[in-house]
Amino acid sequence: MDEKVEPFFDEVIRRNPGEVEFHQAVREVLTSIGPVLAKHPEFAEHKIIERICEPERQVIFRVPWQDDAGEVQIDRGFRVEFNSALGPYKGGLRFHPSVNLGIVKFLGFEQIFKNALTGMPIGGAKGGSNFNPRGRSDDEIMRFCQSFMTELYRHLGEYTDVPAGDIGVGQREIGFLFGQYKRITNRYESGVLTGKGIQWGGALVRTEATGYGTAFFAQEMLKVRGDSLDGKTVVVSGSGNVAVYAIQKVHQLGGTVVACSDSDGVVHDPKGIDLELLREIKEVRRGRVRHYAEQRPDATYVAGGNPWDIPCDVALPCATQNELTGKDAATLVRNGCIAVAEGANMPTTPEGMRTFAEADVAFGPGKAANAGGVATSALEMQQNASRDAWSFGRTEQRLAEIMADIHELCFATAEEYGMPGNYVAGSNIAGFQRVAQAMVSLGLI
Ligand code: NDP
Repeated sequence: MDEKVEPFFDEVIRRNPGEVEFHQAVREVLTSIGPVLAKHPEFAEHKIIERICEPERQVIFRVPWQDDAGEVQIDRGFRVEFNSALGPYKGGLRFHPSVNLGIVKFLGFEQIFKNALTGMPIGGAKGGSNFNPRGRSDDEIMRFCQSFMTELYRHLGEYTDVPAGDIGVGQREIGFLFGQYKRITNRYESGVLTGKGIQWGGALVRTEATGYGTAFFAQEMLKVRGDSLDGKTVVVSGSGNVAVYAIQKVHQLGGTVVACSDSDGVVHDPKGIDLELLREIKEVRRGRVRHYAEQRPDATYVAGGNPWDIPCDVALPCATQNELTGKDAATLVRNGCIAVAEGANMPTTPEGMRTFAEADVAFGPGKAANAGGVATSALEMQQNASRDAWSFGRTEQRLAEIMADIHELCFATAEEYGMPGNYVAGSNIAGFQRVAQAMVSLGLI
């Protein structure tokens, strides 16, 4: 990290004790932006770093609800509205027992720069709860979502703050949240949430967008190197929304995904993951990847296994933060992996990123590679505002263009700053510049 930037980072640690994931996300961005500050002294004058690292607003609230046995449960809700220089706050809600303020802040911070890279008018935010949806009935999920929205609604609005899904929050949860928002406000304000069902204001391709976008980004990185996904062996971690549609797009682009996972274990299917079976298990039955292996004679399941031990040409981490360590990266490099695109947010540890850089592996960081989800959310907002509905083909085409543009922006910015092929630096610098310039223009707010 540039020595001029270090004091800002020390101050972030001092003001946010114990929030290790937030520190990690800030460190990654600050490590990249030394040369930007040298080129733009006005950013220091306007105290952009100090302001950008401090959320505009943080809300923490009690979420009381009753389970099916009549027992009262108390969870904690969060919404961190990080930066609105480019547009209304935008970012998903995560329901997972690991959620705490530091996790929400890391995700919100990343979201600022990711959203800037899309070129759409959206600021950065994130939210969620430590509520654990696993094993809960539909009724319990509904009661929790209603209680969560009963507090959150007062902070939202189509021009104010627009949440979407993330881990543990899919179309079912967005439906319950939207229903409660509508009931409390007496407004059918479609643009207040994205990831809605297509019958009630959702956009085609939003469900697929993050996974598709990640595969498109991998394809763009390979194209620069005179290569493509065609014929490649791919490993995807996770088996949720992002993973499933990354698998689908890789298959459509001629690659073969041979493994995926959940937090219990890994399934290895050398002939290629049968997507219809996986979707039926995950989306209809809400089952586990071990159920997949039970129905596919050629597939093997390893409880507690590590997806990165399986040899592949391309790795797509699509589960959660810090799931791919330095050791995993070394294994992937040893096994001949040439490209990594992050579908998840911050899945690769700093040591893992260093290992990939040293081995010249094409590495697409999450804030660029998984930006297709939020970009398509912005397309959903656009359709809601104009009371329009685009076709699947038109929306997917737009998504592919946006991902190619993000790739080009990160690639060109890395070149401009003398770090060719470094998408981490390219994405951090390009995203930071857009937000910083807007903050300067808007004055001291
Ligand atoms: P889902 O809840 O649909 O799926 C998450 C998947 O990751 C599941 O297979 C889950 O397994 C696994 N997983 C979650 N936590 C852990 C953990 N601690 N250890 C191991 N496996 C874990 O979430 P999404 O697919 O929506 O999100 C996945 C990642 O993509 C997240 O990092 C998210 O922030 C990021 N992302 C999502 C976007 C979206 O549009 N949905 C947009 C941009 C980024 P299990 O079922 O066992 O918990």
